[in-house]
Amino acid sequence: MPTLSLDSLLERPLRAAILAAADSTAVQRAVSRYGMRLGARRFVAGETMGEFLAVAREVNARGFAVAAGILGEGVRERGEAIGAADQYCELLRIFAAEQIDANVAFKLTHLGLDIDPELAYENAAHIAQTALDAGNTVRLDMEQSRYVDVTLAIWRRLRGRFDNVGFVLQSYLFRSLDDLRAAKPLAPSVRIVKGAYLEPPDIAYEKKSEVDENYLRLVFESLDGPGFSAIATHDQRIIERVETFVREKAIPRRDRFEFQMLYGIGGPLAAALVARGYRVRLAVPYGNYWFPYLMRRLAERPANLAFFLKGALTRE
Ligand SMILES: Cc1cc2nc3c(=O)[nH]c(=O)nc-3n(C[C@H](O)[C@H](O)[C@H](O)COP(=O)(O)OP(=O)(O)OC[C@H]3O[C@@H](n4cnc5c(N)ncnc54)[C@H](O)[C@@H]3O)c2cc1C
Repeated sequence: MPTLSLDSLLERPLRAAILAAADSTAVQRAVSRYGMRLGARRFVAGETMGEFLAVAREVNARGFAVAAGILGEGVRERGEAIGAADQYCELLRIFAAEQIDANVAFKLTHLGLDIDPELAYENAAHIAQTALDAGNTVRLDMEQSRYVDVTLAIWRRLRGRFDNVGFVLQSYLFRSLDDLRAAKPLAPSVRIVKGAYLEPPDIAYEKKSEVDENYLRLVFESLDGPGFSAIATHDQRIIERVETFVREKAIPRRDRFEFQMLYGIGGPLAAALVARGYRVRLAVPYGNYWFPYLMRRLAERPANLAFFLKGALTRE
């Protein structure tokens, strides 16, 4: 019988508590005041585009491609949503002009999904067209489960017009394998992740072993089909299983898949993959709305919380 350590017993409630705290304005106010200095910088390139571009060049120099993300979600004002889309377009033009090896990934709620799905669609299409003109690609991130249907519907509409738009599936959701199979005739570019939000047990696996198992199921199904797979994880055991699979099936390394990791996590693992000849892309976020992103990174690995709190307590 598998034994449960104290850590693993505490992990789920702690994760739930951190994600719940992410919704508290008091916590947000306190963390936002000092968080950048205390630890957010480990996961976030900075608050400005200039800071981001410096990090992107440095990440490229280490042999990684970049997925740029401007921090923002749940936007309620049209002007803000349109402004976010314009910033993504500006980034894509800078990448082309300055030969930075980077594409962009964005959240539809940053582009106005909560205001009007049509607004989010138009903004996403604007970014996709700009990327196409620059010979680049874009990806729709996946957010909480209530957004999955509308995100996939918007991806389908975009896919009808563009061949450079990908999406994300989360292995903690029961539905993801069906979603992948439904998308397969469209030769999708799909990033597979475990999932970063708190979801109810009637729609999502609760046990890590089940999430991991479904992760591999999704990756193998995706690699076996047409399209492109972005294998986004820091899980060494999963990466080893994927390496065996692609070797046995002789799947070409660069055209059919890449590994992806988050900036600030998994550095040595990512470097080892590059050294073995794989393409690895680091997701590098920037912007001043970093609070929910930081809380998700803390919830994934509650040990990070200790570093964060230590920074807070030892601060003069
Ligand atoms: C490129 C990329 C894009 C993503 N996009 C989305 C998205 O669109 N939607 C979404 O819901 N989720 C997204 N995620 C987050 C994802 O769902 C997971 O929450 C996250 O990747 C952690 O899971 P893991 O696969 O690394 O596995 P885990 O089993 O959580 O972790 C494996 C190992 O990785 C290390 N690790 C993992 N997380 C951390 C951390 N925060 N700090 C330090 N070490 C850590 C630890 O060593 C851990 O043992 C994305 C992740 C990546 C890498």
